[in-house]
Amino acid sequence: MDLFEYQGKQYFARYGIAVSPGDVADTVDEAVAVAERVGYPVVVKAQVKVGGRGKAGGVKLANNVDEVREHAGNILGLDIKGHVVRRLWVERSSDIEKEYYASFTLDRPNKTHLGMLSAQGGVEIEVVAEENPDAIAMISIDPVRGLDIETARRWVAEANLDEPAREQTAELLVKLYDCYTRGDCDLAEINPLILTPDHKVHALDAKVTLDENASYRHPEWEEFRADEFEDPREKMAKERGLNYIGLDGTVGIIANGAGLAMSTLDVVNQVGGAAANFLDIGGGANADVMAAALEVINADPKVRSIFVNIFGGITRVDEVANGVLEALKRVTITSPIVLRLDGTNAVEGRAILAPHLNDHLITEPTMIDAARRAVALAK
Ligand code: GDP
Ligand code: MN
Repeated sequence: MDLFEYQGKQYFARYGIAVSPGDVADTVDEAVAVAERVGYPVVVKAQVKVGGRGKAGGVKLANNVDEVREHAGNILGLDIKGHVVRRLWVERSSDIEKEYYASFTLDRPNKTHLGMLSAQGGVEIEVVAEENPDAIAMISIDPVRGLDIETARRWVAEANLDEPAREQTAELLVKLYDCYTRGDCDLAEINPLILTPDHKVHALDAKVTLDENASYRHPEWEEFRADEFEDPREKMAKERGLNYIGLDGTVGIIANGAGLAMSTLDVVNQVGGAAANFLDIGGGANADVMAAALEVINADPKVRSIFVNIFGGITRVDEVANGVLEALKRVTITSPIVLRLDGTNAVEGRAILAPHLNDHLITEPTMIDAARRAVALAK
């Protein structure tokens, strides 16, 4: 789960990382109330789960109540890379002497954690990596040993941070690593991490991704989840216990197994179409699951055709065929359905469907044929 900046800052604060005083606001009046409370000047910041908000006009400095009104009004409702701003974070503005970059993430091939630190923060780290890779000091951290303060001090020196920032940054990095590991993050990034003219180091931005596999030991994450503005299709799928991810195309996808579902997206793409979703119904292709899957896909207004791609293994294709017929009795589906049924009991499965086939329920012998048919129907 990705966190909003304000949630990331709340998370950082729990681990003793310095952030600016501030609060969330969902309306212009609330933004004014927060600004009056924290004191001017303030920064009004769009809360969307996408980077580059500053460049898109989503981060503005306000010196008085009129400017807060103006900026809050402009930023609420703003579309930043397809994310509409529904919430603001208003915090006391900081004076900036230097902008740095710091992050921890997983280095999967190395089976370690990766720390990145740069004296050139404030811009996208991808740009620094491209144009000036030497400006990023990277360290591998053995997850068993962790990060001690001595190592952090050497790292800060290697990254050439300004002298007055070094000790505070080393201490902050140890805390950030603690947040990243004990807090079960996949990513904890601060960009910019700033040095103020009076030589204080603190986090001006927060990008945090939580590792959902660890959610069982973090009941406090519920509060983050409650604030999520979910894709309504994903919400509907979650309520039905389906493994679904919404995409932008017009071909609805149902497949059994995550690997087959991903291949199905590729094949649809290969023949010139675009998938409306990823949906893995796993082994449970019975009528209940199939009806739920069809319901969720049917509710997506962009969908023009549905491609059901089943390879029977433990799941038997005759059961799937019965599941599809039963599901169609329960839900009325607007788009034509193209089925590719193969594997265990495929012959029996196709025979079950045969009397019911029409121009809204079609079978194709292979995955590629079915993809072509579904894509043609979606045009
Ligand atoms: P992003 O563009 O989505 O990464 O949003 P950030 O929170 O990183 O803000 C973008 C930029 O706005 C930062 O790199 C800073 O240069 C600037 N900025 C953010 N907060 C402040 C602040 O309190 N004071 C000043 N002077 N600039 C700020
Ligand atoms: Mn940033």
